[in-house]
Order: sequence, then C-alpha cells, then structure tokens
Amino acid sequence: MDTIEDRDAHEALILDSVDRFLERDVKPFAHELEANDTYPDEIVDKMKELGLFGATIAPEYGGLGLPATTYSKIVERVSAVWMSVSGIFNSHLIMAAAVERFGTEAQKQRYLPRFATGELRGAIALTEPDCGTDLQAIRTQARRDGDVYVVNGTKTWITNSIHGHILAVLVKTDANAEPRHKGMSLLLVEKGAGLRVGRKLEKLGYRGIDTAELLFEDCRVPAENLIGGEEGKGLRQIMSGLELGRINVAARGVGIARACLDEAVAYSQTRKTFGKPICEHQSIQIKLADMATQVEAARLLTEFAAKAYDTGRRCDMEAGMAKLFATEAALFNSLEAMRIHGAYGYSKEFNIERYYRDAPLLAIGEGTNELQRIVIARQLIKRNPV
Ligand SMILES: Cc1cc2nc3c(=O)[nH]c(=O)nc-3n(C[C@H](O)[C@H](O)[C@H](O)COP(=O)(O)OP(=O)(O)OC[C@H]3O[C@@H](n4cnc5c(N)ncnc54)[C@H](O)[C@@H]3O)c2cc1C
Repeated sequence: MDTIEDRDAHEALILDSVDRFLERDVKPFAHELEANDTYPDEIVDKMKELGLFGATIAPEYGGLGLPATTYSKIVERVSAVWMSVSGIFNSHLIMAAAVERFGTEAQKQRYLPRFATGELRGAIALTEPDCGTDLQAIRTQARRDGDVYVVNGTKTWITNSIHGHILAVLVKTDANAEPRHKGMSLLLVEKGAGLRVGRKLEKLGYRGIDTAELLFEDCRVPAENLIGGEEGKGLRQIMSGLELGRINVAARGVGIARACLDEAVAYSQTRKTFGKPICEHQSIQIKLADMATQVEAARLLTEFAAKAYDTGRRCDMEAGMAKLFATEAALFNSLEAMRIHGAYGYSKEFNIERYYRDAPLLAIGEGTNELQRIVIARQLIKRNPV
C-alpha cells in the first residue's frame, strides 16, 4: 500500500465489510445467543471468511496485516454490537502477536498461517486460581525432559479455552529463579493428552464466549514450542502482547460507551415525560453531553495508543491510559444509559442491561485498572528522570 489515500481506502473497505457482517450476521442473533450463553459457531465461520483471525498477522503469513489503528476500529464496531464476538479473535491475536514478535522463524511458518485462517484458534493462559495481577507468582511448572517440557498446574478464567485449539501458556521453567521473571517462559500448547478442560465458568456478562479452567497433568509439550526458543523470556513476551491486548480492550470500551450513547440519544427523543421528550430536560442533556464527551476522549486516547503501537516502540503507558480511560467510560456510559432508559434499561428486552453487565469485565481483564495506574505512573517517572 503506497499512499495515505490508498491506506485510507483500504481501511474504509474493510470497515465497510465488518459493518455489513455485524448488521447481517451478528445483530439479529446476539440477543438470543447471549441469553442462552450459546457459543456463536456460525458467526465464527463468517469471521473466518472475513479474515478477522488474521487481522493483525502479516500478509507474508497469510494475515491481513492491519495496523493497530484499523484493528481498534474493528474491535470498537464489533463490541458496540456484541462484545463477546470480539473476544473470540482478540486473545487469539494476542497469542499470534507473541509468536510473530518473538517466535523463531520455524514457529512463525508453522503456526501463523493456520492462526490467520482461523483453522487453529487460540487463547492466552496466564491467570491461576490464586494469582492474576501478580503473574510472577504463577505456579504452573514446565520441566524439561529431553525434547519435551512436562507441564503441571492449573489455569483459570481462560477465554476461548473450550472452543480454541491452542494456547500460549505462561509457565515457570525455573521456579527458583531470581528475579522471578527470569524463570518464566511462554509455551504454545496444542490441545491433547495431559491437558484437560475443567469447569466452564458462569459469568455476569461476556456470555456466549467460553471461559474455563484448564488442568495440566503431565502434559508433554515439544520443546520446539517454547516461544523464541529461549527460556526466561516469557513474561516480557506476553507483556508485549498485552500492549495490543490493552488497546483492544480500550477499543471495546469505546464500542460499549458509544453504543450506550447512541441508544440513549435515540431513546431520549422518543420517551416523553411532562409533555416533552426527555432529551429536552436539562438533567438528561447533561448526561448525554457527558457521555458523548467520554466517547470522543476515549476514542482519541485509543487511537493515540494504537498509533504508538504501530511505530513498533514500547507503548505500555499509552496503552494503559487508553485502557483505563475507555473502560471507565464504558462503565460510566452504561449506567447513565440505564438511568436514561428508566425501567426499560433494566429490562432483558433492551440492550442496555447487557452493556451494563459486559462493561465491568473491561476494568478487570488485560490488567486491572488499578494496575494500569501503576503502569502509567512507573513509565511517567522512567521517561522523566531528574
Ligand atoms: C470473563 C473473564 C475472562 C478472562 N479471560 C482471561 C484469559 O483469557 N486469560 C487469562 O490469563 N486470564 C483471563 N482472565 C483473568 C483476568 O486477567 C484476571 O482476573 C485479572 O488479571 C485480575 O486478576 P485477579 O482476578 O486474580 O485479581 P487479583 O490480582 O487478585 O486482584 C484483586 C484486586 O487487587 C488489586 N490489586 C492487585 N495487585 C495490586 C497492586 N499491586 N496495587 C493495587 N491494587 C492491586 C486488583 O486491581 C484487584 O482490584 C479473565 C477474567 C475474566 C473475569
């Protein structure tokens, strides 16, 4: 793609096909699939056709090679309709980014083309029953035995772990290493003997997509599946993948915040109280104004972070700011939209209660918002030494 005009035209084409897919294949079915917590197999097939599983994977490996700026616009659109659909390709692409950025050429050749088509779909398995934020405290062990690693441990809250085929698993290859991260590695584990899916977890929102426990019981993984081929690099590799993850969660936040605003703007013009549409009451106008401002600010921060990611330099501060602000915007707007809708906002027949149930996950996943503040502050100090 040569010029900015070419890139813009290409982006417009892609966003247009995403919009048509959402209108035709997702919107009419989201409500029922969500209510029944049903995995959207047919939607997944359409996503494969659209190339979404290869959205950010380079064309030389069969992907669309989209920059994070375009990718985040796709995630915003999808999440505005049904956030769970975005989860199906988001953590898959975090896994793919770790392979593409840090994998050996053999790993890239072997896996990326099949990731890009969606033939092999994946997940990232970091969290354990007694640790999520403090990842250096994980206990899952990978012991080298000849040309395999023998993995033992439990992961939990792993999205895509029932319907996915492969996982990037954060393990300890040296439990006694100091500092602890030097004993951590990232392994690509294909489903098979020694890896059992435990309970499917029941959730407040983010339904339809599978989130479960995983049990590794003497699971034998080829040593060639150690990402990058060198032990002790796993935490850095996954943290880098999480930069993209945080931009994508920010984009989800923009999507939900925007959907809540759109529904509130429309509803407030049709619902009448005291002889006039509620949008003419000043207290509702203040809510709409605040919601709209949140959306625009969240979108700008997300774009800012995506642009920084696309330069290839470290952008955890920018991604952290976008994630923090946009996800709080989603929480704020979903509650405001509910207030504006009155009882209908609380009804299962309207979308607002779903946005309200989906939004809190955004403040927890890909690093809690408490952690984002720590990341932002640390980078601020590091970039501004005295
Ligand atoms: C629906 C869903 C899907 C998920 N999908 C995945 C997935 O696909 N893969 C995966 O690996 N994980 C997944 N997770 C797990 C998620 O990443 C973790 O829940 C998250 O990282 C937080 O970890 P925790 O729940 O263990 O909370 P904890 O780490 O126990 O934190 C508890 C509270 O303490 C705060 N806290 C912790 N440390 C500090 C500190 N140093 N300073 C200030 N406050 C602190 C946290 O912000 C939080 O408020 C998922 C979770 C959910 C709910």
